[in-house]
Amino acid sequence: MSGTAEEPIHAKRSGKLWQPARNLMQRASARCRSAVDTLTSGRTKIENARAVADAAIANATAAHERLRAALEILPQGIVFLDDEGRYILWNQKYADIYKRSADLFKVGVRLEDTLRIGVARGDYPEAKGNEEAWIKERLELLYNPRGPHEQNLSDGRCILIEERRTSDGGVIGLRMDITALKQREASFRLLFDDNPVPMFVLHRDTQAFLAANAAAQAHYGYSRAKLLAMNLNDLRIEHDELVEDGETPFASEVVTSKHTTSDGRVIEVVAFSRRLDYEGMPAILLAVIDITERKQAEARIAYMAHHDALTELPNRVLFRQHMGDALAQRDRTGGFVGVLCIDLDNFKLVNDTLGHPIGDRLLQDVAQRIKRVTRQRDMAARLGGDEFAVLVPETKSPQELAILAQRLIDAVSEPYMVEGHALTVGTTIGIAVAPTDGEDADRLLRNADMALYRGKSDGKSTFRFFEQEMDAKAQARRQLEADLRFAVANDSLEVHYQPLVDLTNNDVIGFEALLRWPHATRGYVPPSEFVPLAEETGMITALGNFVLRRACADAVAWPSHIKLAVNLSPMQFRVGNVFANVKNALALSGLQPDRLDLEITESVLLDRTDQVIAHLHALRALGVRISMDDFGTGYSSLSYLRAFPFDKIKIDRSFVRDLPNNRHTLAIVRAILGLASGLDMKVVAEGIETQADLACLAAEGCKEGQGFYFSEARPQAEVIKLLEEKQRRVA
Ligand code: C2E
Ligand code: MG
Ligand code: MG
Repeated sequence: MSGTAEEPIHAKRSGKLWQPARNLMQRASARCRSAVDTLTSGRTKIENARAVADAAIANATAAHERLRAALEILPQGIVFLDDEGRYILWNQKYADIYKRSADLFKVGVRLEDTLRIGVARGDYPEAKGNEEAWIKERLELLYNPRGPHEQNLSDGRCILIEERRTSDGGVIGLRMDITALKQREASFRLLFDDNPVPMFVLHRDTQAFLAANAAAQAHYGYSRAKLLAMNLNDLRIEHDELVEDGETPFASEVVTSKHTTSDGRVIEVVAFSRRLDYEGMPAILLAVIDITERKQAEARIAYMAHHDALTELPNRVLFRQHMGDALAQRDRTGGFVGVLCIDLDNFKLVNDTLGHPIGDRLLQDVAQRIKRVTRQRDMAARLGGDEFAVLVPETKSPQELAILAQRLIDAVSEPYMVEGHALTVGTTIGIAVAPTDGEDADRLLRNADMALYRGKSDGKSTFRFFEQEMDAKAQARRQLEADLRFAVANDSLEVHYQPLVDLTNNDVIGFEALLRWPHATRGYVPPSEFVPLAEETGMITALGNFVLRRACADAVAWPSHIKLAVNLSPMQFRVGNVFANVKNALALSGLQPDRLDLEITESVLLDRTDQVIAHLHALRALGVRISMDDFGTGYSSLSYLRAFPFDKIKIDRSFVRDLPNNRHTLAIVRAILGLASGLDMKVVAEGIETQADLACLAAEGCKEGQGFYFSEARPQAEVIKLLEEKQRRVA
């Protein structure tokens, strides 16, 4: 800056003053001359003239200073050159812009010379390689300006140059540092052109596209040229009103619209827009996000939340919603709403024997048939597993529901062909009707379910309407459950023992432990009633444990050759550690393991996992024996006999009953005896009630048996007495 501050002095010495100053000077010297002319007229005149000249010079100097001050205020760099291209005057901003050459700027120095030095030093990257040509072109522009042009400096800055010739042949030049502007432009290009999001710039008034990035071209399938000939309305087929966030001036507007692409596809988009000036025009920057797939996914998710994936039928959630709608409608219009709960009979068997994939296919086919039978305005749904339901939103009489139920049973019961397997499956239906059986969805479903269970226990493949009395049954069942919990907690269950007899000599060789529940008001509740209840409610683990411990403890009091048999429920293999429980019962009582027989039914092996088999082997490794109970009543007994080498088979009493008079059961008993002898297993016949039963079995070679003929189950005290009597008789 100090060099510039000296400037007026340089300028005065070289006589190269700014035009107005020069004019002042000329006028001043003219006055001087006239003063000299009048010199002769007297000394006073001379002195007057000098004063005038001094004042003129002072004026000129002040004008120059004002000009300089004005130039310094300018935001641009400014330079004045004379008609030979020599520096006359420049401001500090100019010196700052060319800070690398600022030391060269002197009044009277030629711009061409400073330019050459700068080029030689590499200040102008564009000159590199053809310095002379570049300098020539630059000078050509200097003297014949053709509008603004840009100049890059080696430190990365970009300068906008604007030059104009002056009337005296000199040049006024303006310099503006546009580096920041250029960078903004470059980053806009980068963000716009290379952005993966489709973007447009459109005219704010005409909506004509002024620019479209590569992503926009690709997404919409139009070339840039095509797009630039279009406007936003050519793409848009439907759109929301602009939702303007008026809070801040920079807030963007967000709208969802439907657009079409060049191939006619309709896409759903969210468009973000923001105002900007684009090449001097009022414009809008529009970024477009295609949400077509997201919308489809959302729709799919909503569908999946309301439909069953396997059968595509509505699920419980949607079914409940529609029930609610139908019941609300019925409140207004009257009539009946029917709900049919549908459950397949023995579906588990298909799953267990043929595998889940076949079970799934069967469910799909069943769903199709249920759908086919229901009318358009009825709704078929899958509530879970093999449970389906049909909602009949308006019906004039419950009789229509009975007809529909029978048609459903008939349709579902027709044979199926699934992957080469011919299958049949029955179905049972429970029906509840609003308003008679309840007026809200929950109660109706519960009551339809109750009717369904009644149908099941009445022999399946049938339908039942709900009746109030069923509710009473269900309540009784809940009461029984509570009583059983109480009995277990208060240790009021008993274990009785039924003798096992050697049929060759009628000697008692063991006892089977059987649970007895003395109920305060109902007398003895049979195990067939409370064991399944205990299995359903999970109480069976505690119950089973109790029987094991009590029976082992009781058996220790018997003579050592008398064996003990204890029944194990399949549930004890699924939950609870049956192995540890048996081991503990033996340890606590001190009973020799080889005196204990564990009776299991085929259903233990129904879900025949390696784990169950491993349990059985581990139990036998303890020294206890394993019997198969109720043989012949299950599904595929023979394969179970191969799955585990049982010690004993107990022929179910249904084969023993009527044995002497029935050729067929006799044939079966004979076959079982032959099978067991081939497999080295012992056989016990259950349910011997008469001398004739006994004689027949003995004749067939059956060596062990139990039944009312010998004794029913008795309490421990009676067992002890019986054993003592036997002992005495032998003695
Ligand atoms: P189960 O293991 O087959 O027991 C034999 C059942 O046949 C007993 O019925 C017994 O009283 C009955 N019975 C014995 N001889 C005759 C006869 O000559 N004629 C007739 N009609 N029946 C006879 P109960 O005691 O009612 O037990 C029924 C079932 O309950 C048992 O069948 C068993 O599966 C289950 N159960 C009983 N106690 C227990 C237990 O402690 N644990 C488990 N898991 N189940 C048990
Ligand atoms: Mg048994
Ligand atoms: Mg049995």
